[in-house]
Amino acid sequence: MAESVRVICRCRPLNDREKKLNSKICVEMEGSSGRASLVSDDSPQKDFTFDGAYFIDSTGEQIYNEIVYPLVENVIEGYNGTVFAYGQTGAGKTFSMQGVMEVAAQRGIIPRAFEHIFLATATTPDTKFLVHCSYLEIYNEEVRDLLGDVRDQKLDIKEHSERGVYVAGLSMHVCHNVNDCQDLMNKGFANRHVGSTNMNAVSSRSHSIFTVYVEALNEQGTIRMGKLHLVDLAGSERQSKTGAVGDRFKEATKINLSLSALGNVISALVDGKSKHIPYRDSKLTRLLQDSLGGNTKTIMIACISPSDDNYDETLSTLRYANRAK
Ligand code: ADP
Ligand code: MG
Repeated sequence: MAESVRVICRCRPLNDREKKLNSKICVEMEGSSGRASLVSDDSPQKDFTFDGAYFIDSTGEQIYNEIVYPLVENVIEGYNGTVFAYGQTGAGKTFSMQGVMEVAAQRGIIPRAFEHIFLATATTPDTKFLVHCSYLEIYNEEVRDLLGDVRDQKLDIKEHSERGVYVAGLSMHVCHNVNDCQDLMNKGFANRHVGSTNMNAVSSRSHSIFTVYVEALNEQGTIRMGKLHLVDLAGSERQSKTGAVGDRFKEATKINLSLSALGNVISALVDGKSKHIPYRDSKLTRLLQDSLGGNTKTIMIACISPSDDNYDETLSTLRYANRAK
């Protein structure tokens, strides 16, 4: 079980605002041992160990090759897999999942997974592949299609004895190449719910799940299907800091609910002793039920800020990630 859940931590560089404010770096990392430490003059050093620690100069290329690659290989072989980006708003979740196109080494996990999958489909002998994608968001515990014709329709989660868990009415898109996938990613991303908080002019308030379905038909006529879920979670910050009121407050409560449900599910899986895995406690965990645990692989990327004015949020992210190991 330990092998099937891997947790890494990634620290972004100081941003311009933090530099202008003369913020100090309060994170130290040792890549070789996976250690991430929080240092401060006011309290003792806090050490955490993960399956990988990626400091400010790390790249999407490194993270993909060292951590994500084997998970996507598994998906191509017909197993399910899930990659999460967790952390407070502005910590680098979207940067890690999507990355930036201008700097080759900083392209994110999603476009790299597309390339990996289409390279495999082009080079695996005697096998026919069919690739579909879907993209949805969970906003206020309601599921919506980011690529559908009718955008604001709430969709239901259903369960089928053979198909497993699925979203009724979610649009599926056939992809023939990397560009098809890339177009879907951009189109869906533009449709995500965004809102303003004091912390960040535009912050993501929804969980989004980009799913790649890889179907393989071999010469013997056997079909295997692997699902790859690429999850950009909503910001994990507590609402007190963001000064949320009204609708924003309601959102924050729902976000905290599904993030803690996710934490509970993962720690129950890692623990291995619990008979009951609380998948049903949130839409997020229910949807991912057949892609967490069992013979699937899960990766959590805990994204953190290096700046001492985010000390408390960083500590809470490190603790959350530590529980998931
Ligand atoms: P989140 O999705 O967690 O709210 P973003 O991924 O949008 O945060 O990152 C916030 C800002 O920081 C963006 O401008 C992004 O380009 C930058 N950034 C995040 N992580 C890194 C990194 N590892 N290296 C360089 N810039 C980064
Ligand atoms: Mg984001």
